[in-house]
Amino acid sequence: MEKQFYVSCAECGHRVVYDSPVPNCEECGHDWLNADYDLDAVAEVWRRELGSRPFDSMWRYWELLPLKEYDNIVSMGEGGTPLLKAANLGLMLGHRHLYFKDERQGPTSSFKDRQASMAISAMRESAMTEAVVASTGNVAISYSAYCARAGIKLWAFLTSTVPADKMREVALYGSEVVKVTSTYDRTKIVAAKFAHHKGLFVDRGVRSIAARESMKTVAFEIAEQLGQTMSNNGAGLPWRAPDWYVQSVSGGLGPVGVLKGFEELYRMGFSNKVPKMALIQADGCAPMANSFKAGLDEAEDVSDPQTRITTVATGSPGAVYPFLRDAISKYGGTMESVTDEDAFRAMHVMAKMDGLSMEPAAAMACAGVFKLLGQRVIKPDETVVINVSGHTFPVEKHLLGDDWARTVGTAEAAALAARSPAPREGLLAALNRLDGRVKRVAIIEDEPDAARLLRRILQARGTYQVFEAHDGRAGLDLIRREQPDLILLDLMMPELDGFTLLEIVKSEEDLRDVPIIVVTAKDLSPDEWHRLDGQVESLLQKGSFMEEDLLEDILEALG
Ligand SMILES: *Cc1c(COP(=O)(O)O)cnc(C)c1O
Ligand SMILES: [Zn+2]
Repeated sequence: MEKQFYVSCAECGHRVVYDSPVPNCEECGHDWLNADYDLDAVAEVWRRELGSRPFDSMWRYWELLPLKEYDNIVSMGEGGTPLLKAANLGLMLGHRHLYFKDERQGPTSSFKDRQASMAISAMRESAMTEAVVASTGNVAISYSAYCARAGIKLWAFLTSTVPADKMREVALYGSEVVKVTSTYDRTKIVAAKFAHHKGLFVDRGVRSIAARESMKTVAFEIAEQLGQTMSNNGAGLPWRAPDWYVQSVSGGLGPVGVLKGFEELYRMGFSNKVPKMALIQADGCAPMANSFKAGLDEAEDVSDPQTRITTVATGSPGAVYPFLRDAISKYGGTMESVTDEDAFRAMHVMAKMDGLSMEPAAAMACAGVFKLLGQRVIKPDETVVINVSGHTFPVEKHLLGDDWARTVGTAEAAALAARSPAPREGLLAALNRLDGRVKRVAIIEDEPDAARLLRRILQARGTYQVFEAHDGRAGLDLIRREQPDLILLDLMMPELDGFTLLEIVKSEEDLRDVPIIVVTAKDLSPDEWHRLDGQVESLLQKGSFMEEDLLEDILEALG
């Protein structure tokens, strides 16, 4: 049986039963049409049936996707991605409800797979055999894969700044690759002209019902997964919306669709609210974030994008900007931008902290979260879901430079090993090794950022009573007065340095046995190593509490 749903015009409200994709309202000519469904009827079906459908593809939400015949679906298992708790990063930041929606796990490794599956299914339903798409990379890759599967010939127009490896991937699927040496916004125009000239269907991106509707499934999954993970806020609703949905944004298709998804769930009585959205752009191409901060009603275009993160280089957001701005004024949220460097740094942090290797475009969203946490826009107790929108392709890995491995000869390695007077390990490992009776911890550290981070790690890990002093002299007084169970000691401090303090503590009868973890940014001389030898429990190289450069990355990221 054919599914029946409606198409209504966002401008004049004219509503008809959906038949096949049309670009404009037949009444007023407006080009923003919405799919609309009998939500009450769907809610009833979902309450009854959804629980028994496998969580392995976005098509489990069939009733709210704009396709008439189930048999027309072109699917490779897109959607149904995990919602991962940010175990280590959350601990480090003292943020308990931080989650990643792992969209890297789609068939072509980005959340564009949802869009492709929906759009190509709709093309198949209207018997298309050839189509044109413009892309900054990931759409072309995903559409190519699905078109190959559906037997549709695809013309992919790519900006010339798309990394060569991504273009090669598009060609691999048999698409015709056209490189346009201009911006993405120009590339879209060239593609549209080409399609018009050849009488071909051109994908309309955010203006197409299929594309927007596909992104709703991100919202459906998040709410369903959170409903299972977290307690159900006492409201008796089956699912749960987060406080924040965070995504890096180019043309804004994702947030527009996700928003509609959360709105539908709310109207169906499935979740408690519509989340605030944090939309993150690259500084060098941030028409939405800039216009938002300037309080503009319409976006001021960026005609010459200056970012190496091509995936998100839409300079001209058009009607999407006022649409999202309205949504933010209704539900809360913000638009923010980060530098390319912030994004690359976040990429390292995410990979090293929680094992997620993502492309810089996705890491931008994480960099945005660091920034918004630092600004206290996102509060520590709020539930945050970050869309990890795409995987690192080999090409982005080159951007790390070739300096990623260290080669040491055996003699050097032996010397390195012999030089260590105490295990070098992460703070968490050191704490785990100490006995569980450690309850009172003194932090003697003159750098406020480092002290803050140590305090956060401790607080996130358990109920420690934490004392702080910011120079050696005050530190000694503090230790004598409070008699802590553990001392975290910086070596380089004014007044009285850490070495001297260590010697004094070790010479005092009632303090001598208190374990000391040394925290240092310094490259120690042989003499200095000797002074620490046997005196300290553990040594933490600053900037490597867990991995090299990580602390600095995090501190930088937190601002
Ligand atoms: C497309 C894309 C984005 C931006 O998505 P929009 O919602 O279209 O703005 C972000 N990250 C990745 C990996 C993408 O492929
Ligand atoms: Zn109309």
